[in-house]
Amino acid sequence: MAKPVNNTESQLMDKLVSLCKRRGFIFQSSEIYGGLNGAWDYGPLGVELLRNVKDEWWKNMTYREDIEGLDAAILMHPRVWEASGHVENFTDPMVDCKQCKSRYRLDILFEEISIKKQKDVLREIDPQRFQGQQKDEFISEQFKKISDSSPDAVIKVLSCPSCGNKGTFTDARKFNLMFKTFVGPVEDSGAVVYLRPETAQGIFVNFLNVQSSSRQKLPFGIAQIGKAFRNEINTKNFLFRTREFEQMEMQFFVKPGTDDKWFEYWREQRMQWFIDLGMKKDKLQWHQHAPDKLAHYAKDAFDIEYLFPFGWGEIEGIHNRTNFDLSRHEEYSGKTLKYFDEETKEKFTPFIIETSAGASRSLMAFLVNAYHEEEAPSAEGKMEQRIVMKFHPKLAPIKAAIFPLVNRDGMPEISKKIERELRPHLRVFYDDSGAVGRRYRRQDEVGTPYCITIDSQTLEDQTVTIRERDSMVQERVATDQLLSYFRTKFTFG
Ligand code: ATP
Repeated sequence: MAKPVNNTESQLMDKLVSLCKRRGFIFQSSEIYGGLNGAWDYGPLGVELLRNVKDEWWKNMTYREDIEGLDAAILMHPRVWEASGHVENFTDPMVDCKQCKSRYRLDILFEEISIKKQKDVLREIDPQRFQGQQKDEFISEQFKKISDSSPDAVIKVLSCPSCGNKGTFTDARKFNLMFKTFVGPVEDSGAVVYLRPETAQGIFVNFLNVQSSSRQKLPFGIAQIGKAFRNEINTKNFLFRTREFEQMEMQFFVKPGTDDKWFEYWREQRMQWFIDLGMKKDKLQWHQHAPDKLAHYAKDAFDIEYLFPFGWGEIEGIHNRTNFDLSRHEEYSGKTLKYFDEETKEKFTPFIIETSAGASRSLMAFLVNAYHEEEAPSAEGKMEQRIVMKFHPKLAPIKAAIFPLVNRDGMPEISKKIERELRPHLRVFYDDSGAVGRRYRRQDEVGTPYCITIDSQTLEDQTVTIRERDSMVQERVATDQLLSYFRTKFTFG
């Protein structure tokens, strides 16, 4: 039996990032030039894992009769972003340290202040009120209140976490997160376009195109996977907050009045999707946005959060966006986006329930969720450490590895034949170098769920050993039954 090994949170993150590089999941963008902050490249196994995450989402969403797919352009008419509110509202408050030039997103800077520092800040702002012993809950509540209502007063007495200097922050300024560029050769204001900061708007503006071409009736949804870009003030925590990332968004159009029911339905569906793909239930939680924190378009909003090594973080948002988006696009474009209900002969602007997941952020949660270090018995029965990525088999980049025990006695020929038979259906990996125990460990580290070993018994009875990654249980299967064996484990034609 395998025994788990405990790591501290920062050790775990360091080990995961290093494994991702070593085994070809994730590389730093432009690494040979020193890297580019907030951008990452997906290596051979990473791109496969990401594709599997996206495929599972795509199948789950669009293989239903009430959801259609879409792939809208990244560049859109600039008025789209005025209508959506992004030009005006897609801003984060930012401060700079005048001393060391470090830049911070104000709300995140405030969130990361320890209780002890919060106490110091409050005492400095209002010594009378905050003297003596006071409960931590009271302090953090008061700190939140004061930092929300008068952020500049807090900044003035705050020390910079990078250089330690006090009172060196600039006043907070608003910073728009959209990347700007220009269409055509002239870089003037009339040529400005934005790299989309979310995929949703491409769906809203195509609502009637999709509805009429697919002859869908309400309620129905439109799903899209694609790149989004945000000029985040601070990028950090590996893939969690990057400037270029992928989203998997679905907008579900419903009749007003039925929106609460569909909101609940999609909340449940989306949480279940993560659980079905192997996310540990105790690492998932809901976070409801408080009424004063709701986005300008939202009636209700819940985030699905995952417990990352650095704490809880949002991986998907489920929002009741009301009829805000369609109404705004009607207003700004002058074109109707109303739906005509054939049965009731009513014309109205649908409400929208949005499910908005980050593909790259979810992938990071799947990586963290999969990472295990264990003490496990070797082939000789000796306990040794193994790192094993316990991906759900549907997500695993490699589905099965094929090992000839030795490179003679006809074993490589049989192994190659098995490889030829399986390769059209499954992503397999052939490995004939080193002791079998080491080959197992290499596959454990990239999360391959099954290893097939061709040994001397194969020569006698045409069976092979299949070893399952997590339990390490081995069973013998006839070589001519391998395809049907894997058909029970994976779905393929
Ligand atoms: P946050 O509060 O973390 O900045 P958000 O509330 O702005 O996120 P949404 O606009 O709801 O996020 O975006 C939907 C999803 O897109 C998020 O749940 C997340 O998975 C993903 N996402 C958003 N911003 C980023 C980013 N900078 N890097 C990676 N993924 C992101």
